Amino acid sequence: MKIKVAKSAGFCFGVKRAIEIALKTAREEKNDVYMLGDIVHNEFVVEQIKKAGIKVVDSIEKINSGVLLLRAHGTVPEIYERAKEKGLKIVDATCPMVLEIHKIVKKLESENYQIVVIGDHNHDEVKAIAAQSKNPIVIENPHEVKKIGKKFKKIGVVVQSTQNIEKVKGILSKLVTITKELRFINTICKPTQDHQDEIRKMPLENDVMIIVGSFTSANTRRLTEISRGLNPNTYQVESAKNIKEEWFKNCKTVGISAGASTPDYLIKEVVEKIKAL
Ligand code: SF4
Repeated sequence: MKIKVAKSAGFCFGVKRAIEIALKTAREEKNDVYMLGDIVHNEFVVEQIKKAGIKVVDSIEKINSGVLLLRAHGTVPEIYERAKEKGLKIVDATCPMVLEIHKIVKKLESENYQIVVIGDHNHDEVKAIAAQSKNPIVIENPHEVKKIGKKFKKIGVVVQSTQNIEKVKGILSKLVTITKELRFINTICKPTQDHQDEIRKMPLENDVMIIVGSFTSANTRRLTEISRGLNPNTYQVESAKNIKEEWFKNCKTVGISAGASTPDYLIKEVVEKIKAL
């Protein structure tokens, strides 16, 4: 059985950077270090962060002193303001590619575009991007365009960095019907684009596809969804423990990919487990 691991599998640049910043901060800071929510959607990484001594809380009101570490997918402006008011030291691990989206939103708004953010309503990255505009519209699927109920002169569109471009195209084709001018900036980041390019080829070239990553990671679930659409023999696993021998009957080639929040050692363990079958 041949095993091929996607070049883009695993941690993206932004997540790697955020984890390094977090671990360095935990090592060097004498005061308590806090984060608002988990660093990435992966249970194994969350455990590593906890072990390093970083405390995860669900509200800034639970932090009275120390260091506030901001996560890779960005934070709404009110959190920066509240942290300053409380005298917290801010260590900002927001991915530079997410900060770039914030800048684009501000620029488009200054040019009088109605801001539309294509992304998942409940995702923190989307909330932080939308918060850069005074009057944003967030769209998750094409049906929501109808619900807007009015027309515009100019719409400026940005996208959550991990969106599926095919889904985005579907939403754009509806948005053109409600505006005279549509300005689209493709803010899907390069690591996500590489992931998606590979995941559109690999399922067609392999008998079985294994996607490694947490079920809480939207990015991993999206890879699984795309892969399964192309090859029904697609299985998502959180770690090598979930691998089942029966998936590989009559299988000659296995393709392996992993979400941007999946650490390398989990991918390696999956490869070793499949080799051992
Ligand atoms: S998915 Fe892209 S934008 Fe998000 S953290 Fe990774 S590199 Fe940055």
